[in-house]
Amino acid sequence: YTSKERKNSYHFFSSKNGDVFDRRLKLENGLRTAISNNEFKVYYQPQVDLNTGEIKAVEALLRWNHPELGLISPMEFIPLAEETGHIIHIGKWVLNIVCQQNKVWQNSGFPSLRVAVNVSSVQFQDAGFTEDVKEILRKSRLAPQFLELEITESIMQNVKEVLPIIKKLKEIGVKISIDDFGTGYSSLSVLNQLPIDYLKIDQSFTKAVLSSPNTEAIVKTIIQMGHSMNFILIAEGIENKEQVDFLVQNYCQMGQGYLFSRPLTAEEIMSILATKYKI
Ligand code: C2E
Ligand code: MG
Ligand code: MG
Ligand code: MG
Repeated sequence: YTSKERKNSYHFFSSKNGDVFDRRLKLENGLRTAISNNEFKVYYQPQVDLNTGEIKAVEALLRWNHPELGLISPMEFIPLAEETGHIIHIGKWVLNIVCQQNKVWQNSGFPSLRVAVNVSSVQFQDAGFTEDVKEILRKSRLAPQFLELEITESIMQNVKEVLPIIKKLKEIGVKISIDDFGTGYSSLSVLNQLPIDYLKIDQSFTKAVLSSPNTEAIVKTIIQMGHSMNFILIAEGIENKEQVDFLVQNYCQMGQGYLFSRPLTAEEIMSILATKYKI
């Protein structure tokens, strides 16, 4: 570089970083008032029984419509909410909404519908978490087996701290699943000790299962291992029929993805709960 170019590129990066900083500040400040300003909305994506085509559960997925910056992905705002501590309040808010909502669906003719909620590791390890879950179930009158808490594999790194929490939650009676399985740290001996109900195969595997022999072998192994540990397997990110065929042939019991449905509003979910997808 000439010194002039170096100067220009420095200038370019500094102003770009300025924008990133500005956006971050706006999002951080926005998180504080997003709930009271009604900017969050919970969407739900069906989880389908791959043998019958029935909707057995829905996964709650949070959406944030920022007044100035528009729709923000949870991949961007959840990490910020974790760093700033807002996740505790937001997570509790989501749990309340989804338990109340599931009770409405159950009372409308779908008494065994389950709702899955993503729980941040920060929220999961917060001192009040298990009491909050108990209290929210009590207030909503939702039976605990119809609430599924999704935690990620990376949480197992703190198995000493996390195992007692998982055990307490199992005493309460809720279901637990490991989300994005296969992408993170995992120790099979730790996994085997955990009283987990569901393993969610990460969508990156589902996506590549037909094109990469390597991925095919990994998915088959995850499914076999899951069965041997008595977990129910849920494949994420199913987008075509060929993926379903592969998964069914290999005994993966459940799936979700755009092939069946994108995440929908609570009202839209109500109107499709009786759907039986052709498998
Ligand atoms: P996740 O829990 O693994 O959720 C699955 C993500 O994949 C969702 O993205 C969903 O919309 C998307 N998806 C579903 N089916 C398909 C498909 O067939 N193809 C493709 N390409 N994508 C599909 P979303 O809603 O943007 O959420 C991203 C992540 O943000 C979630 O990943 C979860 O980790 C986190 N998240 C979302 N809502 C919450 C929440 O309420 N609390 C916490 N702590 N995290 C949340
Ligand atoms: Mg999830
Ligand atoms: Mg996932
Ligand atoms: Mg995820």
